[in-house]
Amino acid sequence: MKVTILGGGIIGLCSAYYLQKEGYQITIIERGDISNGCSFGNMGYMSPSHFTPLASPGIIAEGLKHMMNSSSPFYIKPRLNWDLMKWGYHFWKNSNAATVKKHAPHLNNLLQLSRGLINDMRTDIGDNFEMQEIGCLMMCKQQKTLEHEFHLADEAEKFGLQVERLNKVQVQELEKEMELNVAGAVLFKDDCHFNPGKMMRTLKNYLIEKGITFQLETTVTGFEKSNNNIAAVITDKGKFDCEEIIISTGSWLPDIAKMIKIKLLLQPGKGYSYTYPYIEKNIKYPAILIDGRCAVTPWGHQLRIGGTMEISGINNNILVNRMKGIYESAKDFYPVLNIDLPPADKIWSGLRPVSPDGLPYIGKSALFKNVTFAGGHAMLGISEGPGTGLLVSQILDNKKTEIDISAFSVNRF
Ligand SMILES: Cc1cc2nc3c(=O)[nH]c(=O)nc-3n(C[C@H](O)[C@H](O)[C@H](O)COP(=O)(O)OP(=O)(O)OC[C@H]3O[C@@H](n4cnc5c(N)ncnc54)[C@H](O)[C@@H]3O)c2cc1C
Repeated sequence: MKVTILGGGIIGLCSAYYLQKEGYQITIIERGDISNGCSFGNMGYMSPSHFTPLASPGIIAEGLKHMMNSSSPFYIKPRLNWDLMKWGYHFWKNSNAATVKKHAPHLNNLLQLSRGLINDMRTDIGDNFEMQEIGCLMMCKQQKTLEHEFHLADEAEKFGLQVERLNKVQVQELEKEMELNVAGAVLFKDDCHFNPGKMMRTLKNYLIEKGITFQLETTVTGFEKSNNNIAAVITDKGKFDCEEIIISTGSWLPDIAKMIKIKLLLQPGKGYSYTYPYIEKNIKYPAILIDGRCAVTPWGHQLRIGGTMEISGINNNILVNRMKGIYESAKDFYPVLNIDLPPADKIWSGLRPVSPDGLPYIGKSALFKNVTFAGGHAMLGISEGPGTGLLVSQILDNKKTEIDISAFSVNRF
C-alpha cells in the first residue's frame, strides 16, 4: 500500500521509518529540504523525565507575570484571533492539578516507549549522532525550586524512572571541571541526549537507502476528496494520488487540517537556540536550568543553549532580548563558562507545535478514513518521535497499539 507523509520533521521521518519496516511504499512531501526547522535546532533531549504537560498549575500566572518582559522565558502575545482565544481557553482549562494527574501517565507511556525504541533505531540507522546516555540534570538555584524538583523526582519514581537527588556538593562532584552556582539538582538517569540535526540527517539517509521517495521543495496546498477518503494531495508541483495519508506538518497541522474542514487546536511556540562551535572547557552534562527556564546541551566541545516559549503566531522574528535572557541564565548557573552573547544573525528559532493540553494528536481523523494525524508534540517531539512513528505504523496496520492512544485523539476538543 502507498502511504503519503506530509511533513519531513522528526515525526514524519520516524513514521516513515516504522512504516517502511511493514513494507509500505512511502512518499514524503516536504516544503523545505529537510536541513533546518524545528526538528534540527532543538536541544536534543530524549526526556522520559518530562511527563508533566506544559499546561500545568501556575503556568498562566507565570505567563501573565512575564507579559511585559522582553527577555522572559514564557510569553503569549495578546491578539484578537479566534483560534488563539479558543486555544488559550482550553490551555487555561487544562492547567490544573487534576488534569495534569490524568495526562501525565499518557505522556509517560509515550516517552518511555520512545526511550525504549531509540537504542534499536540507533543500531539500525547508524550510530553517528552523538547520543549519550548519561541522564539530564534539572539544576536549581533556589531552595524552593529544588524542593519542587525533589517532589517531581518522587512522582518520577512512581513511573519507574531512576533519579538522584543531589545537593550543591554532589552536583558539583558530577560536573567536576565547571564551577556551578546552584543549590542542587535532580539527575534523571533515564534521559539521554543527541545531536538532533545529525540524527535527522542520519535518518533521512537511511530512508533514502531504503527506497523512500522524498518529494522536497513541494508545498501541500489542498486535497482531492472522494466520499470519506482523500484521493490525492494537491501541491505546487502537481497532484499526488494516494491511498493512506499521514499529516505530520508540525506547527502547520491546523492549516493542513483546515483544508479538509477539520479543526485542530494548536499554536506555534517559538523557541531559540544558539550553538557555540568550540568551547575548550565545556560542561559535561546536559541540563535544564530550572529557575532560568532554559537549557544547555554539550556535544564534546560544542555547546547549545536554548529556550523560551513564545506564543506569537507563525513567524521567524527573532527577539534578541530573549536570547540574551537565555545567555544570562547560562552565565548565572555556570559563572566561569567562557561564552559570549550569541551574535544576533546566528540565532536559530523554531516553532514547537503546542496543543492546549500538552498531549499530541495521534490517530485517525473522524471524517476521512485514510487520514492519520501525528503532531502537536510541543517541546517533546524528539523525545516522543520514535514512539509516535511506531504507533502510526500500528494504526495503519490495524494492530493493537503498543500503548493506549485514546487520550491523543484528534477529535478531543
Ligand atoms: C528551542 C527548542 C528546543 C527544543 N528542545 C527539544 C528537546 O530537547 N527534546 C524534544 O523532545 N523536543 C524539543 N523541542 C521540540 C521539538 O523540536 C519539536 O516537538 C519537533 O521538532 C516537532 O517535530 P514535527 O515533526 O512535529 O514538526 P517539524 O519539525 O516542524 O516538521 C514539520 C514539517 O512540515 C513541513 N510542512 C509544513 N507545512 C507544509 C506544507 N504545506 N507542505 C509541505 N510541508 C509542510 C515543514 O516544512 C516542516 O519541515 C524543542 C523545540 C525548540 C523550539
